[in-house]
Amino acid sequence: MTRTSESALPNDPPPIPTGPFGTEFVETMTTATWVDGTWSDPETVPTGPISLHPAAHSLHYASACFEGLKAHRGSDGEIRIFRLDRHVERMRQSARTLMLPVPPSDMMAEMIRTVVRDSRSEIPAAPGSLYLRPTLFGTEPNIGAAAAPSREALLYVLGSPVGDYFQGGIRPLKIAIETERPRTTPQFGMVKSGANYAMALGVTQEAKRTLGIDQVLFAPGGDVTETGASNFVLIDDERIVTKGLDESFLHGITRDSVLRIGEELGYRVEERDLDVAEILGWRGEAALTGTAAILAGVGWFVYHGESHPVGDGSVGANTLRLRKALTDLQIGERPDRNGWNELV
Ligand code: PLP
Repeated sequence: MTRTSESALPNDPPPIPTGPFGTEFVETMTTATWVDGTWSDPETVPTGPISLHPAAHSLHYASACFEGLKAHRGSDGEIRIFRLDRHVERMRQSARTLMLPVPPSDMMAEMIRTVVRDSRSEIPAAPGSLYLRPTLFGTEPNIGAAAAPSREALLYVLGSPVGDYFQGGIRPLKIAIETERPRTTPQFGMVKSGANYAMALGVTQEAKRTLGIDQVLFAPGGDVTETGASNFVLIDDERIVTKGLDESFLHGITRDSVLRIGEELGYRVEERDLDVAEILGWRGEAALTGTAAILAGVGWFVYHGESHPVGDGSVGANTLRLRKALTDLQIGERPDRNGWNELV
């Protein structure tokens, strides 16, 4: 665990973690099991190893999905969970697609709130936050069930105090454009399942090694979709442009939030297809949106081995403006007109 300071007062929020994103955890997590159609009452247990049968369905047949959302500590000391209902709904959608039991919304939301309540003192102040990772997977010990859903499952909610996702804070990212290989299969684009990330991993690692980039933007056949862990937007002084929702990519909740805030700030939102020629020729800014990435500016595209700067290669003023509006809303410093924050 790496911390910026060792000497916090008892009622002070803890320092923002400076180690890799997602490697520090709060003391307790919530769990619920599902067996033959029935959910157990959720429990709070110490965060730690879980016991799994080696034949567990998810280890063999990838029956697993997860969510990623955040709770923020405001300057007023209040803790707010951002867009809890949307994350619960997306997890239910992922579970349905993977033939896993669909957790009741109320039960799952309460499991998330419980982790936030119990770890209040472990949540750093902004720009740090508590990243929450609800996870659901098939646990039935049955290696013969390749073509059958798991009849047992575990749902847990893990909490991780976090700082910046991209090491180095706000800096322009270098993004490779991949037009040959998709991130995942089209029918799984909307699902937040580990298998999708496994499919993108080899492509991303190869591009990191050979091109020194931060992320890969998947544009199969020239159709610009998303990166391995965030959505993609073009921005200029008047517009925010991003691919319209279809089943091929994850419907990011940050994407939706940035578009709605952008409209409030007077930007015109265009949700439509984007091709590689358009993004390489764009005269404004480009950015990635995601719970972890927030709104991260793109400085360069790398396409067919050649570097193309985006604007002057720095994080643009519109990107910073939208990012600040979003983070201000999350910490209670911008009016929450849509009721996105839930106070815990
Ligand atoms: N696309 C992918 C593949 C992701 O993993 C994420 C991150 O969660 C996103 C997009 C952005 O989604 P959200 O804004 O809901 O975090």
